[in-house]
Amino acid sequence: MNPADVPGLPEGVASHLHEEGIEELYPPQAAAVDAGVTTGESVVAAVPTASGKTLVAELAMLSSVARGGKALYIVPLRALATEKKTEFERWEALGFDVGVSTGNYDSSGEWLASRDIIVATSEKVDSLVRNDAPWVDQLTCVVADEVHLVDDRNRGPTLEVTLAKLRRINPDLQVVALSATVGNADEIADWLDAGLVDSDWRPIDLRTGVHYGNAITFDDGSQREVEVGGKRQTPALVGDTLDEGGSTLVFVNSRRNAEAAAKRLCEVTAKRLTDGERADLRELADEIEGVSGTETSADLARVVRQGAAFHHAGLAAEHRSLVEDAFRARLIKCVCATPTLAAGVNTPSRRVIVRDWQRYDGSYGGMKPLDVLEVHQMMGRAGRPGLDPYGEAVLLATDYDTRDELFERYVWADPEPVRSKLAAEPALRTHLLATVASGFAHTRSGLLDFLDRTLYATQTDDPGRLERVADTVLDYLEANDFLTRERDGDDVRLKATGLGHTVSRLYLDPMSAAEIVDGLAWADEHEAEMHRKLDGTTTRASGSSAESTESVESDESAGSAEAGGFRPASEMVADADGDTADDDGPDTAGTDRTYPTPLGLYHLVCRTPDMYQLYLKSGDRETYTEECYEREAELLGRTPSEYSDSDFEAWLSALKTARLLEDWANEVDEDRITERYGVGPGDVRGKVDTATWLLGAAERIAGDRGFDAVAVREAKKRVEYGVRDELLDLAGVRNVGRKRARRLYEAGIETRADLREADKSVVLGALRGRRKTAETILENVGRQEPSMDAVDADESVTAETASATRDDGRGDAGGSDQASLGDFG
Ligand code: ADP
Repeated sequence: MNPADVPGLPEGVASHLHEEGIEELYPPQAAAVDAGVTTGESVVAAVPTASGKTLVAELAMLSSVARGGKALYIVPLRALATEKKTEFERWEALGFDVGVSTGNYDSSGEWLASRDIIVATSEKVDSLVRNDAPWVDQLTCVVADEVHLVDDRNRGPTLEVTLAKLRRINPDLQVVALSATVGNADEIADWLDAGLVDSDWRPIDLRTGVHYGNAITFDDGSQREVEVGGKRQTPALVGDTLDEGGSTLVFVNSRRNAEAAAKRLCEVTAKRLTDGERADLRELADEIEGVSGTETSADLARVVRQGAAFHHAGLAAEHRSLVEDAFRARLIKCVCATPTLAAGVNTPSRRVIVRDWQRYDGSYGGMKPLDVLEVHQMMGRAGRPGLDPYGEAVLLATDYDTRDELFERYVWADPEPVRSKLAAEPALRTHLLATVASGFAHTRSGLLDFLDRTLYATQTDDPGRLERVADTVLDYLEANDFLTRERDGDDVRLKATGLGHTVSRLYLDPMSAAEIVDGLAWADEHEAEMHRKLDGTTTRASGSSAESTESVESDESAGSAEAGGFRPASEMVADADGDTADDDGPDTAGTDRTYPTPLGLYHLVCRTPDMYQLYLKSGDRETYTEECYEREAELLGRTPSEYSDSDFEAWLSALKTARLLEDWANEVDEDRITERYGVGPGDVRGKVDTATWLLGAAERIAGDRGFDAVAVREAKKRVEYGVRDELLDLAGVRNVGRKRARRLYEAGIETRADLREADKSVVLGALRGRRKTAETILENVGRQEPSMDAVDADESVTAETASATRDDGRGDAGGSDQASLGDFG
């Protein structure tokens, strides 16, 4: 089918597609058009990766907008939202406005009302519905990308409920659901009252097989020799692909394995680079190092210089996109990735190696084989249309039996059916409250009626189950004051309380809110007692005694807590400076410390189910047990007994996570933090973002409930900006950030008011002579004349402030030794 023959398409779209080289629709695309996707019909398209699903969505959205409507594209991951928006922006030339909604969960995104096409994650859409975004009822077309993810235990229910709500708000809504090939696409189509396009057509041949011995055996029985010669299989396969001018994507099961594999495989790629490629890779590596001054960044740059890379969720977003772009441009020859890369990001390669087909799963009690669907999605990344003659996806076996098992389990197997995960308590807790709070149901029967429109209801053969779980969840919500129930004849009226409304709008799990309410109430009740305890404590309570806080109180001369192998940030900093650790700020110091302390509040939000806590590694249990008793007076709640294993363990994990946040708020360098907690820079940002959101919610809850919100706000701001108290004012200025704020402060510019008045040469000196940055900052702080023309940097200021801080991690060369980071005067 020629794009010009597609009914309902707005003017200009067909010729635009021709210019992009799309002369003919792919068969599944043509089938979707036949099913009415451009004339307002709902369609489920279950087709393999890279078979042009996005174009199906675009055709639907553009034709819907052309009919006077508005379209929404729901993506499964935040990282994909921006990617899709950029992709859709090419339609702006034809007059379609595109917007992406990523920001905070508690805003209603009113500005999006003027956009024709909006891209957002399902969580964001859910929150927009909860916050009554004014444009939601104008939607005429909704696309759900990767709809098979309704099967995901954590995130699936949100997508499922969101689609049900959108269809309820607008009964004529066109729904276009894009799915990988799954066993039961017909059930999804039934649920959505949609036509079905179910196809395994691919634009480029895919050969799947297993490498064993010295050859790959493919699904059609053919073989390809790839000699291993006593080496490992993966390097042999990567070298073999490269010798034919192709690139390889290697899927492994952990971040550490991704990094280790890249380190080994760059020896293979390095040997096969041209001089020009080497020069380009050097440039790219420098750019990568400029993203952040962390060890991960340096490791990535090191392998990239040699033509390989690793890719996982611990990388900063900038790292990820640099790697993806260079792989697409065929500059990076081999990427070792965790399965996150298989979900959505468009990075095709000649050969895909699924090296690890098992992953550690605690609840399974060991290594668990991956789902067929997941492995097929990884395999589907093989083959770049127009560039490769075919794609090859290979699993690895080291013995004959495993080879057979892999054929049975993955190569010949059909993907599992998609099953709704809605009837789980955690999912229903949050969605039932939101359904009541945002007015979708006012009674128990209304609620059950709403649930009847979900995929779960169409799939279950135990219709009573959802009702039973719903009642249990309603009990919980009532007991914790999120809603009230009142008998009304045969029915029960449901009404969200003030707290319930707040929690729903803030997008909190009600259980997180209950934990926060409890913690704040505990603080309120125990304030006087804990203040006394804390006032009696020195800066860093020490003494390795784990018996009681009393023994801590009496230990006035406490200096180091090294016995447990743990040293607080402030101490570490002072140590490195060659100084003893003395009083260094109100947050950790003696008598005037606030209560609750930032650590207490960080620990509180880290205990909630909305925060992914850090794992305890070997030795951590002892370290944090000790830390827990030392700082018990700061924690908002009773420490669980050491004998209740899982509670105590969770408490310590929360403490470890809270300590990471405290380090961040104490201006400890990012690379120190990543090293100490064994995480990537992306994780630090993730924890900081989540904590900022949860503390913002805690601040609102504290205000609503009449608790003191000031300490919560301060703790939130400090973690948001990653600074100590005294920098809060400065760090809030756009483009300043934690490192620059510290340098300005050291140069005597302590507030925004100072910055508006300060001598420009001092400002420029503190900002290391960076004129453009200095001007932008002065402009942002509202200085009358921000121009730095004819201003000379005060070199003495540069030197002085450099000794107080380190490189700001953005390739800002010339930073001095980080050892003196803590020289806070
Ligand atoms: P999916 O979403 O199914 O994984 P994409 O939509 O990303 O796949 O499509 C993969 C590639 O195929 C894109 O680069 C896209 O431009 C290209 N493509 C899509 N449809 C056609 C077509 N009809 N003809 C040629 N190329 C196409």
